[in-house]
Amino acid sequence: MTKNNFTLTLIKPYAVEHGYVGHILARINEAGFRISAMKYTQLSREQAEAFYEVHRNEGFFGRLIEFMTKGPLVVALLEKENAVGSYRRLIGATDPDKAEDGTLRKLFGASVELNAVHGSDSDENARREAAFFFSRLEIF
Ligand code: GDP
Repeated sequence: MTKNNFTLTLIKPYAVEHGYVGHILARINEAGFRISAMKYTQLSREQAEAFYEVHRNEGFFGRLIEFMTKGPLVVALLEKENAVGSYRRLIGATDPDKAEDGTLRKLFGASVELNAVHGSDSDENARREAAFFFSRLEIF
């Protein structure tokens, strides 16, 4: 399997609404990631459902789609060696209560549902998610 040097992050609507974008981007930069693409967008219901397709049969799917389409979010590609694993460590566990101190989800998340950021969970998903959000012309 090809190894990526990038991952995809979403700063979710909850974190945007609470004014955390600048703080989160600062920590991403301090952790040594280079931002190779970034934009502000709002997901339609159809787009959010496609992005979270694997969770369609989960009980929380409806709430997840509601939460992800509520307002604008920031989407970015982050470049670093072993980016997927490195960024998953920086963001911490899905549930902020279980995330380690200093992780983005611990610092900026409120609950499993309101968890501030997304990070791709595999190289394959990072490639899929990058293609979902960005054209070649938007990646630098
Ligand atoms: P992640 O890869 O760490 O983001 O976790 P998952 O892929 O398992 O879940 C995707 C997203 O679905 C999470 O980031 C949460 O926003 C949401 N989610 C996951 N588990 C739950 C849950 O038990 N309840 C609710 N309401 N949302 C959840």
